[in-house]
Amino acid sequence: MKKKRVIVVIIILLISAIVLGYLAQQKHSSKTENNKIGVVVSLGPEVEWVKAVGGSKVDVTLMVPEGSDPHTYEPLPNQLSQVSNAQIYVMMGSSVEFENNYMDKIRETNPNLLVVNASEGVKLIPNSAENESDTVDPHVWADPKNAKIMVNNIYNGLVEVDPSDKDYFTKNRDAYLQELDELDKNTTKLLKDKNNSYILVLHPAFGYMARDYNITEIGAMINDEEPSPQRIAMMINTAKEYNITTVYNEPQYDPKFMESIASQIGGKVVTVNDLGENYLQNMANIAVAFSKT
Ligand SMILES: [Zn+2]
Repeated sequence: MKKKRVIVVIIILLISAIVLGYLAQQKHSSKTENNKIGVVVSLGPEVEWVKAVGGSKVDVTLMVPEGSDPHTYEPLPNQLSQVSNAQIYVMMGSSVEFENNYMDKIRETNPNLLVVNASEGVKLIPNSAENESDTVDPHVWADPKNAKIMVNNIYNGLVEVDPSDKDYFTKNRDAYLQELDELDKNTTKLLKDKNNSYILVLHPAFGYMARDYNITEIGAMINDEEPSPQRIAMMINTAKEYNITTVYNEPQYDPKFMESIASQIGGKVVTVNDLGENYLQNMANIAVAFSKT
């Protein structure tokens, strides 16, 4: 009788040890059921960055879809459920309104998430173009030099969660950084010899490009509000004074404001997409577009 009880206790202990071991492994396991690292990102450019470094090891989910405005976007309930299955959240970390409003909720939804601040180490600039207050300019991604730092931060996050694939991530990262270097060089070349330095945009998302490539951005929107007639008139005057014939809009905004400027200067509106998932291509297009102002 006593012997039997001892055996039962031993069996229970063994089963407990196996279950606990399994649970412990699950907790530290970096992979989802399909054996990939679940990574959720805030904005389109981060999708390309995570895929470039993570390759076949990652499953990427985007929170603010292309064509939506990160200043105003609200996550859908099914997006939050994807957060609960993920291992990593890559935040821009530059006071994008979406993150200011929802990062607490995202962390609460999945306390085990590794939150990577992509812009750690990026020199942030004040939001003077967009906002009268001295907040940070959130548009860090729209700049190839910043992107190099941000991609490296994503790399560090992936290695932390999945150290066994470090060599694979390193190879991928180095290849992508080389492409960013090319983009950086081409952007410098394209914008260096412009006739004038002014870039007239609806929404001032290019403050970091302006800093790094010697251009001057003039945005019609201030504090994310529709442009005032005075602001539009000032931009028309600037365009005329500097013989500017191309002005720029982004896909998430109504083109009517820039069209009204274009019609007054006999010019045209070109759409530039800094929030898309095809980052290298989009940024290369932007550099070409800005070189033709
Ligand atoms: Zn903005």
